Amino acid sequence: MNSSENCIFCKIIRGAVPAIKVCEDEYTLTFMDINPAGPGHALVISKAHAANLLEIAEPDLLAVTRTTQRVARAVQKALVPDGLRIGQFNGAAAGQTVLHYHVHIVPMREGQRTGAHGRAPGDPEELKVLAARIREALED
Ligand code: AMP
Ligand code: ZN
Repeated sequence: MNSSENCIFCKIIRGAVPAIKVCEDEYTLTFMDINPAGPGHALVISKAHAANLLEIAEPDLLAVTRTTQRVARAVQKALVPDGLRIGQFNGAAAGQTVLHYHVHIVPMREGQRTGAHGRAPGDPEELKVLAARIREALED
Protein backbone atom coordinates (compact mmCIF):
# COMPACT_ATOMS: atom_id res chain seq x y z
CA MET A 1 0.00 0.00 0.00
CA ASN A 2 1.37 3.38 -1.04
CA SER A 3 2.58 5.25 2.08
CA SER A 4 4.58 8.40 2.73
CA GLU A 5 7.22 8.34 5.49
CA ASN A 6 6.56 11.72 7.09
CA CYS A 7 2.86 12.09 6.43
CA ILE A 8 0.87 12.40 9.69
CA PHE A 9 -2.13 10.53 8.28
CA CYS A 10 0.10 7.69 7.00
CA LYS A 11 1.53 7.53 10.53
CA ILE A 12 -2.01 7.17 11.91
CA ILE A 13 -2.69 4.35 9.41
CA ARG A 14 0.56 2.61 10.46
CA GLY A 15 -0.36 3.03 14.13
CA ALA A 16 2.71 5.21 14.78
CA VAL A 17 0.48 8.13 15.85
CA PRO A 18 -2.72 7.58 17.87
CA ALA A 19 -6.14 8.61 16.66
CA ILE A 20 -9.68 8.25 17.94
CA LYS A 21 -11.02 5.89 15.30
CA VAL A 22 -14.61 5.52 14.20
CA CYS A 23 -14.25 2.73 11.64
CA GLU A 24 -12.02 1.30 8.95
CA ASP A 25 -12.11 -1.03 5.99
CA GLU A 26 -9.59 -2.23 3.42
CA TYR A 27 -9.31 1.15 1.68
CA THR A 28 -10.36 3.80 4.20
CA LEU A 29 -10.00 4.94 7.80
CA THR A 30 -12.31 7.32 9.67
CA PHE A 31 -11.29 9.11 12.86
CA MET A 32 -12.19 12.19 14.87
CA ASP A 33 -10.57 15.50 13.87
CA ILE A 34 -8.17 16.46 16.66
CA ASN A 35 -9.16 20.14 16.28
CA PRO A 36 -12.90 19.88 15.70
CA ALA A 37 -14.80 22.67 13.97
CA GLY A 38 -17.78 21.39 15.99
CA PRO A 39 -18.90 18.30 17.95
CA GLY A 40 -18.73 15.19 15.77
CA HIS A 41 -16.21 16.52 13.23
CA ALA A 42 -14.76 13.39 11.58
CA LEU A 43 -12.24 12.79 8.81
CA VAL A 44 -12.40 10.05 6.20
CA ILE A 45 -9.05 9.22 4.63
CA SER A 46 -7.78 6.80 2.02
CA LYS A 47 -5.35 4.20 3.36
CA ALA A 48 -3.16 4.67 0.30
CA HIS A 49 -1.23 7.93 0.36
CA ALA A 50 -2.29 10.46 -2.27
CA ALA A 51 -1.95 14.19 -1.74
CA ASN A 52 -5.31 15.34 -3.05
CA LEU A 53 -8.26 14.85 -5.39
CA LEU A 54 -6.06 15.35 -8.44
CA GLU A 55 -3.73 12.52 -7.46
CA ILE A 56 -5.88 9.91 -5.78
CA ALA A 57 -6.53 6.67 -7.70
CA GLU A 58 -10.15 6.12 -8.67
CA PRO A 59 -10.75 2.99 -6.54
CA ASP A 60 -9.51 4.85 -3.45
CA LEU A 61 -11.60 7.90 -4.30
CA LEU A 62 -14.72 5.77 -4.71
CA ALA A 63 -14.00 3.96 -1.45
CA VAL A 64 -13.56 7.24 0.46
CA THR A 65 -16.78 8.58 -1.07
CA ARG A 66 -18.67 5.44 -0.08
CA THR A 67 -17.33 5.63 3.48
CA THR A 68 -18.15 9.34 3.64
CA GLN A 69 -21.81 8.60 2.88
CA ARG A 70 -21.90 5.73 5.39
CA VAL A 71 -20.35 7.81 8.17
CA ALA A 72 -22.41 10.89 7.30
CA ARG A 73 -25.58 8.79 7.67
CA ALA A 74 -24.33 7.53 11.04
CA VAL A 75 -23.51 11.07 12.19
CA GLN A 76 -26.99 12.20 11.14
CA LYS A 77 -28.60 9.32 13.04
CA ALA A 78 -26.43 9.62 16.15
CA LEU A 79 -26.12 13.39 16.57
CA VAL A 80 -29.15 14.66 14.64
CA PRO A 81 -27.51 17.86 13.34
CA ASP A 82 -29.54 20.37 11.29
CA GLY A 83 -27.07 19.97 8.43
CA LEU A 84 -23.88 18.23 7.43
CA ARG A 85 -20.93 20.00 5.88
CA ILE A 86 -18.76 17.76 3.70
CA GLY A 87 -15.47 19.45 2.81
CA GLN A 88 -12.28 18.68 0.95
CA PHE A 89 -9.35 20.99 0.16
CA ASN A 90 -6.64 20.75 -2.46
CA GLY A 91 -3.39 22.64 -1.92
CA ALA A 92 -2.25 25.01 0.82
CA ALA A 93 -3.79 27.99 -0.99
CA ALA A 94 -7.18 26.26 -0.73
CA GLY A 95 -6.77 25.67 3.00
CA GLN A 96 -5.32 22.14 2.92
CA THR A 97 -2.95 21.59 5.83
CA VAL A 98 -2.43 17.81 5.64
CA LEU A 99 -1.38 16.72 2.18
CA HIS A 100 -3.07 13.30 2.30
CA TYR A 101 -6.50 13.02 0.70
CA HIS A 102 -9.29 13.34 3.27
CA VAL A 103 -12.88 14.44 3.55
CA HIS A 104 -14.24 16.45 6.47
CA ILE A 105 -17.66 15.57 7.89
CA VAL A 106 -18.84 18.46 10.07
CA PRO A 107 -22.28 18.34 11.73
CA MET A 108 -23.85 21.81 11.67
CA ARG A 109 -26.48 23.46 13.85
CA GLU A 110 -28.94 26.07 12.61
CA GLY A 111 -27.27 29.49 12.86
CA GLN A 112 -23.87 27.99 13.68
CA ARG A 113 -21.03 30.04 12.31
CA THR A 114 -17.90 28.00 11.93
CA GLY A 115 -14.86 27.96 9.72
CA ALA A 116 -13.53 24.87 7.97
CA HIS A 117 -11.12 24.21 10.84
CA GLY A 118 -11.46 24.25 14.61
CA ARG A 119 -9.39 26.62 16.68
CA ALA A 120 -8.52 24.37 19.62
CA PRO A 121 -7.97 20.70 20.36
CA GLY A 122 -11.07 18.77 21.35
CA ASP A 123 -11.34 17.07 24.74
CA PRO A 124 -10.15 13.49 24.04
CA GLU A 125 -12.77 11.96 26.34
CA GLU A 126 -15.53 13.87 24.56
CA LEU A 127 -14.13 12.83 21.17
CA LYS A 128 -14.12 9.18 22.29
CA VAL A 129 -17.77 9.40 23.35
CA LEU A 130 -18.75 11.02 20.02
CA ALA A 131 -16.76 8.40 18.06
CA ALA A 132 -18.55 5.60 19.93
CA ARG A 133 -21.97 7.15 19.28
CA ILE A 134 -21.20 7.48 15.56
CA ARG A 135 -19.79 3.94 15.42
CA GLU A 136 -22.92 2.50 17.05
CA ALA A 137 -25.10 4.23 14.43
CA LEU A 138 -23.19 2.75 11.47
CA GLU A 139 -25.13 0.51 9.15
CA ASP A 140 -23.79 -2.00 6.61
P1 AMP B 1 -7.11 20.14 5.90
O1 AMP B 1 -6.91 21.58 6.21
O2 AMP B 1 -8.30 19.87 5.05
O3 AMP B 1 -5.83 19.56 5.38
O4 AMP B 1 -7.47 19.47 7.28
C1 AMP B 1 -6.61 18.72 8.06
C2 AMP B 1 -7.36 18.39 9.30
O5 AMP B 1 -6.64 17.36 9.97
C3 AMP B 1 -7.50 19.55 10.28
O6 AMP B 1 -8.88 19.77 10.54
C4 AMP B 1 -6.74 19.08 11.52
O7 AMP B 1 -7.36 19.47 12.73
C5 AMP B 1 -6.75 17.57 11.35
N1 AMP B 1 -5.62 16.87 11.97
C6 AMP B 1 -4.31 17.16 11.85
N2 AMP B 1 -3.56 16.28 12.54
C7 AMP B 1 -4.43 15.40 13.09
C8 AMP B 1 -4.29 14.25 13.93
N3 AMP B 1 -3.08 13.82 14.33
N4 AMP B 1 -5.41 13.60 14.33
C9 AMP B 1 -6.63 14.03 13.94
N5 AMP B 1 -6.83 15.09 13.14
C10 AMP B 1 -5.75 15.78 12.73
ZN1 ZN C 1 -0.11 10.02 3.77
